[in-house]
Amino acid sequence: MTDRPIAATAPIAEKEPNKKAYKWLIRGTVGLLTLFFVAGIVWGANDILLHEGKYPPEAAPDETITNPPATKAELYDYVRDAIALALSEKPKLNAETTFNLHDEAFMDSIAFTGENADWLTNIMKHTIPQFEDQLKKGEMNVETEYGDVLDAFLWHIQGDPNDLSDAANVFNYFRCSVCGNTEDAPQEICPNCGSENAYVEKFRDEYNIVLSFADGSDALFAHFPMRSNEERLAMLGDGLASFAKINAITVQYTNARIVANINRTTKKINSLQFIKDIRITAGIQPIAPLDYVGIADVSFTIQECNTFNFTWLHADICSDGNPAESKILSPKQASYLSLKIYAPEGTKITWASDRPEIVAIDADGYINAGAENGEAVISASFDFDGKTYTDTIQISVKTPTEGVKIDRRKLSMKTGETAQLKAEVSPSDATYQDVTWHSENPMIAEVDANGLVTAKNRGVVAIYCLTEDDYWRATCTITIEGDDSRGAN
Ligand SMILES: [Zn+2]
Repeated sequence: MTDRPIAATAPIAEKEPNKKAYKWLIRGTVGLLTLFFVAGIVWGANDILLHEGKYPPEAAPDETITNPPATKAELYDYVRDAIALALSEKPKLNAETTFNLHDEAFMDSIAFTGENADWLTNIMKHTIPQFEDQLKKGEMNVETEYGDVLDAFLWHIQGDPNDLSDAANVFNYFRCSVCGNTEDAPQEICPNCGSENAYVEKFRDEYNIVLSFADGSDALFAHFPMRSNEERLAMLGDGLASFAKINAITVQYTNARIVANINRTTKKINSLQFIKDIRITAGIQPIAPLDYVGIADVSFTIQECNTFNFTWLHADICSDGNPAESKILSPKQASYLSLKIYAPEGTKITWASDRPEIVAIDADGYINAGAENGEAVISASFDFDGKTYTDTIQISVKTPTEGVKIDRRKLSMKTGETAQLKAEVSPSDATYQDVTWHSENPMIAEVDANGLVTAKNRGVVAIYCLTEDDYWRATCTITIEGDDSRGAN
């Protein structure tokens, strides 16, 4: 019935054979797609079974740090030397001053004396925006170029380590070996995964050093650019002008500290902060219509932080846009390396290969692998201010391993028996064909370097192999029963 309107006209009726062909085409296509789909699942499952994934060995334990600077004198010298290095190597510097007026500590620090303290405190909190505007006038914002002399912008540490009230170096942390959670101190029970006694000590790549100065020490005033009390009075007066006139002011600096983050292998500073609390005590006279209050005494504390961030001259060789230490090419494969360069614009880069017959590189970073397997080191260098800066990347030319399988996934054995397992690395032309053999419990079964399994005791054990290249894994599960025949006889 549904065909009637179509059959009613001759021209459409003539198209009937085409329509049938179309139907078959659709059926055929759907059939093929179904076949591919099912095959895909089978192949996919096969793939999953074959390729259990990569199991690289646990990273080698961190290099033990011998004698990290720890005493006041050592830490003081360490930071001072790091600043000296920055002054001589002339990295790019970003410096800024910030005043902290928003956190609870500032709010809690506002203390009026007298019977009107509470509502004066509330009114003063409303003056924060004007106050901040005034403080901004005292901000330091500096951005230098590579090679600029930094003496005028970067503060030296002067004085004597005896001025320090405390010095600390946070160079280690603790990591749960089960889940990877990190903490500043070892945990008996991991708060993340519940494992017991799983925390191991790790060392940071940077030292986080805090030098604290005793209140009132000479060093405190020698190291930090200061404003006179008159300047502070003017700044505060303008800041509080919508609310009060400043009558008298005293300024006291406390909790001065230097926080330095320094790369422990290069001794280059990543960041340096000079932080201090400014305790201000003033007599203020609220303006009309609050002038009837008279002079009220107030004190409050502002935290001032001067932060110096450094970008050191260097170059990062990148593969696929990200800094890379190594890269794999197939024989005769072409690719390219890019470079992130931290140097003045227009700096000339020189690319080089230590083994051009293995991997050649041109002036634009395009690399070409030769026909042979092998390793080459590609370098990118530039010169600035009489020094040469270099980054390198290791290029391996090989046909990479993509997986491995064992000829048997399950095996039953009796104690005392031996069985030979065979591993097959894929693809068959992968450069590295060797595997290593492992038993998860050698008490149940042992496996030798060639995959020969010896059943030792009853039980179930996983015997697995790892590829030499990339640590792909395949497992054979072995069930071992006692030698019943011997027992029966
Ligand atoms: Zn954990």
